[in-house]
Amino acid sequence: MKTDQHKQEDVQDYQAILESIEEAVQPCFGKGRVANYIPALGQVSPNKFGMTVRTARGECFSVGDANEPFSIQSISKLFVLQLVMSQLGDVVWERVGKEPSGDRFNSLMKLELEHGVPRNPFINAGALATLDLLMSLSGDTRERILNYMRYLGLNKTISSNATVVNSELEHAHINRAMIHLMKTYGCIDSDPEELIATYCYQCALEMSCMDLATAGLPLAMDGYSPLHGDTVLSGKQNKRINAVMLTCGMYDSVGSFAYRVGLPAKSGVGGGILAVVPGELSVAVWSPELDKSGNSYVGTAALEMFTSMTHASIF
Ligand code: GLU
Repeated sequence: MKTDQHKQEDVQDYQAILESIEEAVQPCFGKGRVANYIPALGQVSPNKFGMTVRTARGECFSVGDANEPFSIQSISKLFVLQLVMSQLGDVVWERVGKEPSGDRFNSLMKLELEHGVPRNPFINAGALATLDLLMSLSGDTRERILNYMRYLGLNKTISSNATVVNSELEHAHINRAMIHLMKTYGCIDSDPEELIATYCYQCALEMSCMDLATAGLPLAMDGYSPLHGDTVLSGKQNKRINAVMLTCGMYDSVGSFAYRVGLPAKSGVGGGILAVVPGELSVAVWSPELDKSGNSYVGTAALEMFTSMTHASIF
């Protein structure tokens, strides 16, 4: 159990902590690689670093490139899951599991063995199945997702980058294969091309660390956003999503991320990571160089420093 001495939200100087992290991560640059399997993502400067903390009181602390929008990629899976759960309830768990896959995020192997039912909503197959459910609702799904992100991020300028969408669409052969495999098993209802195009649209949303920390704060607050004065998710849904973030949110190195950082989190191949300290704050970090599992190399190091300095790990 954490002692009062270790939970010092009142006395943390987050601005000073972020500034010392920004300095301390400098030797980590050059050790990872910017994702280039989606060619448009490979254009980003590898030296970017931004980090934002949003506290339960709504305070915001930032360093570096925290205001610069970047491709959120798989972090969008977290918000689409949230949207599906808030619109359709628990039905999503009939379509996807809740277990870590133990494979790469775009692996097809278990999908065939497990008859088209993805292991969790954060691997690509699971995100496609989750989005398929959202597309069963009437209305324009892209607009629904965009409006939701603008609302959560309190930023009307959030948008999806068409160049990144087209670049991913040209190379999305594995994701298309997943859709067709799942459709063969009766696990996808939408038109495959419409589904892949909508998926690439959600992945190409661009948000800054500031936007992401704002959008993620309700996940730290039992589903309530103090910034909006609104409940975004029920407490039960929030608990479920945090559990799946903790066990499945960091690709195939979720165990070492829990060991090093100790927070529920979701990463994307654009180099972003959104993490939450339950009851206290959300923290978003961005740095494009990735480790072998596809997580931001510098971002993971920064979050490890953050929980070491603040004792904010949930463990
Ligand atoms: N759009 C990317 C893909 O499907 C998302 C991957 C990621 O961020 O993990 O490959």
